[in-house]
Amino acid sequence: STYVHRFRASVRDRDAVPETPRRTQDRSREEIADRGPGFRNEPDTDPALAANRDWFRRAVAARAPAVAGRRLSIPDEVDDVVATARSSGWRDVRATERGRLLREAARALAAARTELLTVMVAEGGKTVAEADPEISEAIDFAAYYADRADELVHAPFTPDRVVVVTPPWNFPIAIPLGGCLAALAAGAAVVIKPAPQVRACAEVGVAALHRGGIPADALQLVHTEEDDTGRRLITHPDVDRVVLTGATDTARLFRTWRPDLHLVAETSGKNALVITPSADPDLAVADLVRSAFGHAGQKCSAASLAILVGSAATGSETGKRLRRQIADSVRTLRVGYGTDPSTTMGPLIAPPEGKLERALTTLDRGERWLVRPRRIGETLWTPGVRAPVRPGSWFHLTECFGPVLGLMYARDLDEAIAWQNATGYGLTGGIHSLDPAEIDRWCAEVEVGNAYVNRHITGAIVQRQSFGGWKGSVVGPGAKPGGPNYVAQFGTWTDGPTSA
Ligand code: GLU
Repeated sequence: STYVHRFRASVRDRDAVPETPRRTQDRSREEIADRGPGFRNEPDTDPALAANRDWFRRAVAARAPAVAGRRLSIPDEVDDVVATARSSGWRDVRATERGRLLREAARALAAARTELLTVMVAEGGKTVAEADPEISEAIDFAAYYADRADELVHAPFTPDRVVVVTPPWNFPIAIPLGGCLAALAAGAAVVIKPAPQVRACAEVGVAALHRGGIPADALQLVHTEEDDTGRRLITHPDVDRVVLTGATDTARLFRTWRPDLHLVAETSGKNALVITPSADPDLAVADLVRSAFGHAGQKCSAASLAILVGSAATGSETGKRLRRQIADSVRTLRVGYGTDPSTTMGPLIAPPEGKLERALTTLDRGERWLVRPRRIGETLWTPGVRAPVRPGSWFHLTECFGPVLGLMYARDLDEAIAWQNATGYGLTGGIHSLDPAEIDRWCAEVEVGNAYVNRHITGAIVQRQSFGGWKGSVVGPGAKPGGPNYVAQFGTWTDGPTSA
């Protein structure tokens, strides 16, 4: 298609980007690429190596490509794109051949690590520490879903014909490509409409998949505005399913547009990390700060609440020391843009408005700032910590999607779990405790999709921690990305024999 052609030209014309880095200390790139059969997670780039730090520096200094993709401006163009997908012939490609092409796509993504990093930092507001693992995650999706495609070869399964993927801006590579790769693995042709803030990221990622051999008609990238064309795409009668990662309200809006829409949606969260008096405070604070302020808190998975329990919550020595440690650690974050490799907390993607603005500027009765957030640029805010957040209060129940953490002080573990479960959402949650009885009780009672013990609560790893929620955090069948059943959602299971 013209879009692919034009885009490839623009990639060729770009400033030369540095070579792909040597990834880990003891294995060459070739050894990593030739990993043999069986899924293994792609390793991140090891910053302990000077050569890799140099690669980071050069990658973030390179110029990001301009957006070149196809913009749809009238509903007729939407009809064309959907018709192209429908007649792409992708569902007739044998499942094992789809698997092979997805493995090629994984290799193409690995080879594009430099371009991907450049554009994620320049356009997506990521730091290198956030961007690099996200590229590994996208590679993992391709390789992992390739295995799921293989499993479908004799299954009584008829793939969807056309799937639309509508990803968010906060994970501009892993989430868009993950949705596309899952539907493609199942045998569905895909139309992806990236979030307007990160169009170039999606283009670089999709171009890599095309280079890996995914046919242009089976994977089309289009840009639409939030107007009639966008609505036409979501509600098109020939679109079998829509993948949405975004706000619960957006899922509701899609459903009002088309009540019978088949929607696979991962939506909002209000996530808490519980810290009990038995926790190792150094580990707990490091994991809390990483969970709350990674990508400036702009993750569905982010810790927005820390629920301190018992003596960890009181004016005792334990409690005071823990709160001081949290505040000191938060103040130590280096706020800036990812183009400066020493940045540890990046920008907000949009200037705050609505809930986030309120969370950054307004305290509720009885709350005070343990660390007061400050605006230091158009989209740059220093992080904030507010306490004590009371059960049932606005901050307890509202997802704010930014660099603000609230501390809650619970009498005991039962109270902490009750507060954690009371938000209406159920995406991620964690506990820091070194007491096995506490851990067991928490695991049995917490109502979240991803429950993490003595670990940060963001950054789910494909296969090891398939990612997704329950309650208000999910719409649709709820199989999790990066898990065994995700691909199998994109079609119909029948009793009779099929050609999948
Ligand atoms: N999968 C990501 C994580 O585990 C979160 C995705 C999201 O924010 O939507 O941190």
